Amino acid sequence: MLLYTTLIILLLWALQIVFLNTYYQQMKRASIISAGKQILSHVGDEDFQSYLERTAFENHICVLIVNENGRKQYSADMLGPFCLIHTDAIRTIESSLRPVLDGQQKKMVQLIGEEHHRFPKQMLIYAESAAGAQGERITLILNGVISPLGDTQEILKNQFWILTMILIAVALMISGLIGQRLTRPVKRINSRAKRLAEGDYRADFEGEGIEEMEELAATLNFAAEGLSRVEELRRELVANVSHDLKTPLTMIKAYAELIRDITGENPEKRNEQLEVIISEADRLTGLVGDLIRVSRDEEAEDKLQTEPFDLGEEIGSVAERFAQLCPDYRIEVENKGPFPVAADRKSISQVLYNLVSNAINYTGDDHRVVIRVKDEVEWFRVEIIDTGAGIPKEEQPLIWERYYRSRNTHQRPVAGSGLGLSIVRSALMKQNFPYGVESEPGNGSCFWFSVPKERPS
Ligand code: ADP
Repeated sequence: MLLYTTLIILLLWALQIVFLNTYYQQMKRASIISAGKQILSHVGDEDFQSYLERTAFENHICVLIVNENGRKQYSADMLGPFCLIHTDAIRTIESSLRPVLDGQQKKMVQLIGEEHHRFPKQMLIYAESAAGAQGERITLILNGVISPLGDTQEILKNQFWILTMILIAVALMISGLIGQRLTRPVKRINSRAKRLAEGDYRADFEGEGIEEMEELAATLNFAAEGLSRVEELRRELVANVSHDLKTPLTMIKAYAELIRDITGENPEKRNEQLEVIISEADRLTGLVGDLIRVSRDEEAEDKLQTEPFDLGEEIGSVAERFAQLCPDYRIEVENKGPFPVAADRKSISQVLYNLVSNAINYTGDDHRVVIRVKDEVEWFRVEIIDTGAGIPKEEQPLIWERYYRSRNTHQRPVAGSGLGLSIVRSALMKQNFPYGVESEPGNGSCFWFSVPKERPS
């Protein structure tokens, strides 16, 4: 701002003060000479004398037009006693006029300074010879005044200093204000960002009304919210996973000790307890498998292999596995197919497995889970329905997040890590298959997804 103001001041100074006089003198000189040329071009006109006087008056000049012999033909005198060509003073310039009067030179311009003249102004003498009305040679001698700009320049200089002071003060004030207004929010956001890096995830960045700062603050608030959610989920995961790992481990240890110390000799009891150990070990394997799958998913997108297969068959085999695992539960497959589809078979089986496992975990006391397939033109829509407590509306978008688990502690027959639905979502999203949940608290839930039908080649 200061630099810009200084530049403007310097430019104005150069034009208005330093070069003003030279500029003015050149303009004046050009206008006097141009008046002389105009006069010459009108010689011979009917009312030439009055034209001459008018021009002389307007330009404040004296004019003398003489013939070859030096005789005066026309004359106009506007300077009176100060004139150099109508008074005796003409002798002082006669020598420089001579070559033009004698026809040896076409024109001449001479500036006579204040020091050589009684009149305290600069004088301009201009002479030019040309052809008269009858073709005879005539010479125009012209005397003009170039007033110095001394006083005007002084006034301008004074005004200039005042203007310079005002401009600099205003520039300082404006730049100070703008600077302060801009740097304050930047400084604040910066120090707040440092706290964010240290783990303070409160979303309280402020842009203080400046558009760009507001945008930056909104982005940082968004990031802070995201970080805080991740942090919360991470904590939850550690708690969940450690809990889920601990229960089967405790069981395994307890039953192993029982066998060693008490039932080792009783094959019936021992086998029963060994079954428990094996099923608990299976739960552990499932849990670890989920974790590995998620971390793998983070590292690289699994390669998908679309192939034609019977969705009905896949549903049947998943239902069968769960029926064996949880004999107390009724898994009803409503329609058996065949439902020829084209998709990545492994990931669809994974989706089914996770959704059925959730349905078993969360279904009501009737221990009932229904699997239904609907034919929808180009898709088969699979619905996994349970009779459980349902999911509140506000929770529905969140359950698909990685590590999300509802706050309700729920007794489940199958171990969960809060990863099941995030695996479902990622598998279906990768293939662009629609999915969702319809649920009302108290009325159970219906998790659904659609798989495209196989197109006949
Ligand atoms: P997990 O079941 O291991 O907790 P998921 O990702 O499979 O993890 O599910 C996330 C959350 O979604 C669960 O904690 C639960 O609150 C909710 N949820 C999932 N399926 C159901 C369902 N069928 N009925 C009610 N709530 C469900």
